Amino acid sequence: MQVLDTPESTKDSQIDGMNCLVKESLESDGLVLKSDVSVPPIGSDEVRIKVIATAVCGTDKSIYNSSSSEGIRREMMRYFDDKSEFNPIIVGHEFCGIVDALGSGVTAERFSDVPENLRLSAGDYVTCEMHLSCGHCFQCRTGAEHICTRVKVKGVHLDGCFAEYVTVPYKNVILLGKDGDTKTIPPKVGAMLDAFGNAVHTVYEADVRGKSVAILGAGPLGLMAAFLCRDFGAARIYLTEAADVDRRFKLGEEFGADFCFDVSSGSQKVYDAVEKYETMANGVDVVLEMSGSPSAYRDAFKIVRNGGTVLLLGITRKPLDNFDIANGVIWKGVTVKGIFGRKMFDTWETMLSLLNAEKLDITTKLDKILATKTYRLSEYEEAFTNLTSGEEMKLVFEP
Ligand SMILES: [Zn+2]
Ligand SMILES: [Zn+2]
Repeated sequence: MQVLDTPESTKDSQIDGMNCLVKESLESDGLVLKSDVSVPPIGSDEVRIKVIATAVCGTDKSIYNSSSSEGIRREMMRYFDDKSEFNPIIVGHEFCGIVDALGSGVTAERFSDVPENLRLSAGDYVTCEMHLSCGHCFQCRTGAEHICTRVKVKGVHLDGCFAEYVTVPYKNVILLGKDGDTKTIPPKVGAMLDAFGNAVHTVYEADVRGKSVAILGAGPLGLMAAFLCRDFGAARIYLTEAADVDRRFKLGEEFGADFCFDVSSGSQKVYDAVEKYETMANGVDVVLEMSGSPSAYRDAFKIVRNGGTVLLLGITRKPLDNFDIANGVIWKGVTVKGIFGRKMFDTWETMLSLLNAEKLDITTKLDKILATKTYRLSEYEEAFTNLTSGEEMKLVFEP
């Protein structure tokens, strides 16, 4: 991040300073709205994008409340040699926008053999994978870039997209519409595809066709998983949540959940329902843990059937105490898999197919998860207050 009027900031003198939200110190909560940060210069292999809409997720909430979130502080310091030094960065990693300019190495000439409709040009409507893989580690070289050992995340380790402009490697840009065409995927939805990708990645790791599925956590990702499981032909869908249950269960039922359980004062009702309906298998086939709540981990391994599958996307704030791995996993022969990010770029291609499938009407469903109000960057304090209080589940800034 470069602040204007420093010696290095002359590269883009044709555009004045931009508005952006910056994390200045990990020791104190909040962000700082700046208007004097220079528009980022474009590296040769990069693309600069003018941000139309940018969504806020749980990671941003942790960054906002960094003083009480040791995990995110440790992660944000990961690439600093001197663990006491933190350089301020622009936060935000979910967005969509319009290509403003291409780096010198990714011009039209280089891609002259790429079909016109797939070629990236200034003015195109795009989103991005903001996890930048190193390209060299074992995982990157064996088709598992999404779990690269040296991944850098824009908005966590590098400047992100709560800003008017952001630069990203050409390879990470996802074309949503040529010539700024936002008809199929409206910008509010285009801004939340990073999150949608987490849900798609999770559901795709289990075969849910004709299966009973329990989704633990009815936040944005759990709700997305609910309609995906319904669309993909799950036999029965159980959904649990401990907060804001009226609104979340209303959407959950609309999206196809068969049973919704408020687990704020215990999970016995879920256990009873699973025992009643899953008598043949003695548990559900697939559990998707989307909440990060310690009690949900206990529930997951209690209700999964012997030989079933548990997919873990939610992130616990601290290591689990007293996890009974023998009873929960080993003797039941359960398959457990952690899900991180989106597969590069399988998940993105799948998402584009889903979003373009008119009859699934996924954009309408995604829009229902979002706050009706869109916020200006300058309203960030109100936005984060509403997210932290649970008044809004997910919201979008329009810089
Ligand atoms: Zn996110
Ligand atoms: Zn790598």
